[in-house]
Amino acid sequence: MVRVNFVPLSKIDTSTGECAKLDCDTGSYTLHRHHRKHQAIWLGIWAGRRNGEKKFSLFVTRYHEFNPKDWTRLCASHHAEIHLIYDGIIRRDQWFTRRSLSQYSWVQAEKLMMKLEAVCVDWLKKKTPGSSTEALTKLRSKRKAASSKWRKT
Ligand SMILES: [Zn+2]
Ligand SMILES: [Zn+2]
Repeated sequence: MVRVNFVPLSKIDTSTGECAKLDCDTGSYTLHRHHRKHQAIWLGIWAGRRNGEKKFSLFVTRYHEFNPKDWTRLCASHHAEIHLIYDGIIRRDQWFTRRSLSQYSWVQAEKLMMKLEAVCVDWLKKKTPGSSTEALTKLRSKRKAASSKWRKT
């Protein structure tokens, strides 16, 4: 049975800086390093399944490097907002592919990652209010429950 791990939000950024979002005024001062392609989902989903693959091990290494090319600094509130947007995009993508994420090919995963990054880059240029982190936690636990139910059938 495939277990989907919902990897927690990126580690808190201990360096100085500010939220990259246009005119951020959420008042949230906790900064996160956000991987724009949301690589973390594949780390959890493919662990075990792709562990022997060179491509996957390079992918995992690159993720943990927190390469400045891969991430954007966001406040906790905007970080929650972009992940809520991502959740909708991922759901739509799965609707089109008719696959669970664990069944995605590299090509499908890479396409989805490109899509997420493009949406993020676009979103960064707009002023939005941010979301509560509780809304994201709630949605994730709901998805987790739904996906384990689905997997049993
Ligand atoms: Zn993130
Ligand atoms: Zn912000």
